[in-house]
Amino acid sequence: MQPDPVHPDVVRFLQDAPKKMIIGGEKTASISGKTYTAYNPSTGEALVEVYSAAAEDIDCAVEAARKAMHGPWPTMLCDQRESIMRRFAALIEEHAEELAQLESLDNGKPISKTRSIDAPVAASNMYHWAGWPSRIHGETPVVSIPNHFAYTRREPVGVVAIIFPWNYPLIHYTQKSGPALAAGNAVILKPASVASLACIRLGELAQEAGFPPGVFNVVTGPGGVIGEALSSHPHIDKIQVTGSTGVGRRIIQNSTINIKRVSLELGSKAPNCVFEDADLEKAIPGAFHAAFGNTGQSCVAGCRLYVQRPVLEKVLEGLQALAGQARIGVAMDTQTEMGPIIDAAQYRTIMEYVEEGRKSGAAILSGGERLSGNGLPEGGYYLSPTIITGVGDDDRISQEEIFGPVVTVYPFDTEEEAIARANHTTYGLAAGLWTENVARAHRVAAQIKAGVVWVNTYDMFNSTVPFGGYKQSGYGRDNSESAIDAVTETKSVWIALK
Ligand code: NAD
Repeated sequence: MQPDPVHPDVVRFLQDAPKKMIIGGEKTASISGKTYTAYNPSTGEALVEVYSAAAEDIDCAVEAARKAMHGPWPTMLCDQRESIMRRFAALIEEHAEELAQLESLDNGKPISKTRSIDAPVAASNMYHWAGWPSRIHGETPVVSIPNHFAYTRREPVGVVAIIFPWNYPLIHYTQKSGPALAAGNAVILKPASVASLACIRLGELAQEAGFPPGVFNVVTGPGGVIGEALSSHPHIDKIQVTGSTGVGRRIIQNSTINIKRVSLELGSKAPNCVFEDADLEKAIPGAFHAAFGNTGQSCVAGCRLYVQRPVLEKVLEGLQALAGQARIGVAMDTQTEMGPIIDAAQYRTIMEYVEEGRKSGAAILSGGERLSGNGLPEGGYYLSPTIITGVGDDDRISQEEIFGPVVTVYPFDTEEEAIARANHTTYGLAAGLWTENVARAHRVAAQIKAGVVWVNTYDMFNSTVPFGGYKQSGYGRDNSESAIDAVTETKSVWIALK
């Protein structure tokens, strides 16, 4: 396997170090001068130093964003705002290769995916939201009070802080900042420290696109410091987070300081159900990719696989065959299908669950060991698709999010049982089901407690389709008009006609 050469623009970006934040339209170092190191998870090698912010830097970013809310942006004519956003989308498109490579180097996602999915989706997200400023409008409700007229206005909520995880940076940045910008808010983006480079580059492209200073800010640093500073800041109006349920809980607590608006896209433990009447030619690879896409480091990973007993053996055989064929390697190799685990800490977490399963008598049908040799760099943490059977529904491995390439497989007998067991979780982000029976498909989809249910497909997203969680997977919806609702306030205006 041979990694693709690094694009000259990426080389230039990495040489211009330490990487600065974007605050008030300026590339900005942290006040303390402190930095952290961005590592390449494929090799464990250092990529570049990045300025590490503290609460004092967050104060500066908030001040810049607040100032921007008194500037031209919130009241700008909608076609002007659209044109800046469209320019931003075009720049993302123009720099797609550079962004794809930065993402692959920084978070270990295979370059074939960042080229075909993450970078193009980031551009298309921004194009989509660039079309919204002229579509955000109030209503004229009918009122049953004489000589009065009422209308509503949709106004930006104000300064919106957006906190991201490391697994889909480019997609998350654009999916969440797009609606906030379209509605006339100022944003402060805070990426995860282990994958912040693409976000910094997006901040630079936003400057080039012509957003007024302070409208698009990027701050970098540890979540325990600046995530805390953002969520407890009294002058931030709204906080949107994608991350783990524990962090979401902490953010809710902090948000009470000024009754911040909060939207949360949190953890998951998605069930995927294969019924005996499924087309197994599609269901087996579908279940495999649902579990192991993005090396299982996906919030929607179909990591609890329920299979109706008559087809269990065939499904397990099919999954093991696919696991044996998976091309695992460095992210920059075009042949790689599964990249490394993000870092040593995440690898250890995954292995703790696997070991616990092993000790409790579970069968590990494939994977479960760190891969080495065969050209894999020693500094990367590689794990092949791990398939486990023989675990109970209440075991920790069945209940807690592992966030790695591990699927636990359970047999079931009846449709009612599959639904009950699929819902036996504190999460409710996503679910899948595989059946050729259309009545069953609708029946089961209606009874699964999750924000999205995929039938005979998996992992489908679009800017027009709401996405978000039930239960402890969070609240609020990304994508669709729901995302605009999340970043606007509705004001009612009454007029006396006499
Ligand atoms: P994480 O919760 O550790 O971190 C998410 C972000 O929160 C990071 O930017 C981090 O720096 C920040 N953060 C950490 N502590 C904080 C604090 N005290 N206050 C404020 N911010 C803080 O998650 P991760 O490891 O980066 O990503 C994996 C998690 O994200 C998984 O639980 C996964 O399910 C979830 N996720 C959810 C979705 C979704 O759409 N629901 C999508 C992707 C990932």
